[in-house]
Amino acid sequence: MTTDQQVWFLTGSQHLYGPEVLEQVAEQSGVIVAALNDADGIRLPIVPKPVLTDADAIRRVMIDATSDDSCVGVIAWMHTFSPAKMWISGFDALRKPFLHLHTQANRDLPWSSIDMDFMNLNQAAHGDREFGFIQARMGVPRKTVTGHVSDPSVAERIGTWITAARGVTALRTMKLARFGDNMRNVAVTEGDKVEAEIRFGVSVNTYGVQDLAKVVGEQADADIDSLCATYEDVYDVAPELRRGAERHESLRYGARIELGLRAFLTEGGFTAFTTNFEDLGDLRQLPGLAVQRLMADGYGFGGEGDWKTSVMLRTLKAASEGLPGGTSFMEDYTYNLTPGNEKILGAHMLEVCPSITTETPRLEIHPLGIGNREDPVRLVFTADPGPAVVLGINDMGDRFRLVANEVTVVNPDEPLPSLPVARAVWIPEPNLRTSSEAWITAGGPHHTVLTKALTTEHLWDMAEMLENELVVIDANTELRQFIRELRWNAAYYRLARGL
Ligand code: MN
Repeated sequence: MTTDQQVWFLTGSQHLYGPEVLEQVAEQSGVIVAALNDADGIRLPIVPKPVLTDADAIRRVMIDATSDDSCVGVIAWMHTFSPAKMWISGFDALRKPFLHLHTQANRDLPWSSIDMDFMNLNQAAHGDREFGFIQARMGVPRKTVTGHVSDPSVAERIGTWITAARGVTALRTMKLARFGDNMRNVAVTEGDKVEAEIRFGVSVNTYGVQDLAKVVGEQADADIDSLCATYEDVYDVAPELRRGAERHESLRYGARIELGLRAFLTEGGFTAFTTNFEDLGDLRQLPGLAVQRLMADGYGFGGEGDWKTSVMLRTLKAASEGLPGGTSFMEDYTYNLTPGNEKILGAHMLEVCPSITTETPRLEIHPLGIGNREDPVRLVFTADPGPAVVLGINDMGDRFRLVANEVTVVNPDEPLPSLPVARAVWIPEPNLRTSSEAWITAGGPHHTVLTKALTTEHLWDMAEMLENELVVIDANTELRQFIRELRWNAAYYRLARGL
């Protein structure tokens, strides 16, 4: 991720008011931007641009925002009144996330002193409505935020949108490497890679697993030994895997895979990848530890060739970089159906990201029934309790559908001494029955991204930026209403694309 990312702040007005008023507008706009930049939740600098008073300047700044790679999004506020036809050519040129801030410089009305000069200077109440009309008329993808900057929720909601914009920015230029195709006969991991590049920007390309196996084979012994020493520093390594112990060679091979994968991804500029246990070529282990550690470093991953989930994981990791929490590849695995204590146990064969735990993972080796290779090394841990969101993506044929479920990660009811993989246990909103009926009715996948760093609002903002369907299952979800929403969405998203 580039370090010079920023957000542009535009202030709308018009020449009618004369230079003195426009100077005041610029000054007050600067105060608002400074307040936002001081707020906790704003994680990128917001840069104010000169007050806009005509269509040429507006069009120019929108083109500049679109072409500037450091600009992840644009915020605009109509301090006074900015006739919105002036904004048409600008919005037509804008290809960046957009937020309309509906605010005013003063919080309290000066009841005893208010006069027409004050009224004419502080008229966002109708200036922003004129501005909202042209966005609605043009169908500009946007988020609208109302409130005075002294209200913490204003900066918080803008901060959420900026975080979402960081994810979308990464998605627009993402490159994903698939090692092999998707698992044979599986439907939900399929998808239209051309459509994904048109819709999202991500480039999804397949490599033969032998291309990876070759790089894995080239890794130097000294580097492998050094990485194994790092493992012993960072993790609770099983005694049989430690240096000098009987299965240390298996750990060394895990380190070799990690070094090879890293080299391949770095060389190609990839930030996301997939593997497939049916297609391992000369790889002697299914990559487990290596995938877990690459995810922890921010890479996207999907098992069984699931590139769509890998893309979403990388997108959420790019968005949430620097935030507490963690985000992982996940799979709904099995249920606890005890009445009143319904829970989901999520895991995967090996590949769960340690960013979702604060415990020290144990580095272990166990047999794996599938894949027909040597026993793979893997990190074993349990996800921390707390609120989370689970996100899935499927290809409906005419569009991609995102499905999200708000959940609470909980501690397992009992220790899981015989389960040799990393896992998370959660209670879905509004309950397991409605959650799973809604998820399955939506065709949501079994592979997901579980994030403890982001909220539904982040996902909603991203979906709006991408103009992509997102259905949310939360505490308010009622199944019949949810099914109607799916039907309406099917019509809407077909009509919205035009003929
Ligand atoms: Mn799977």
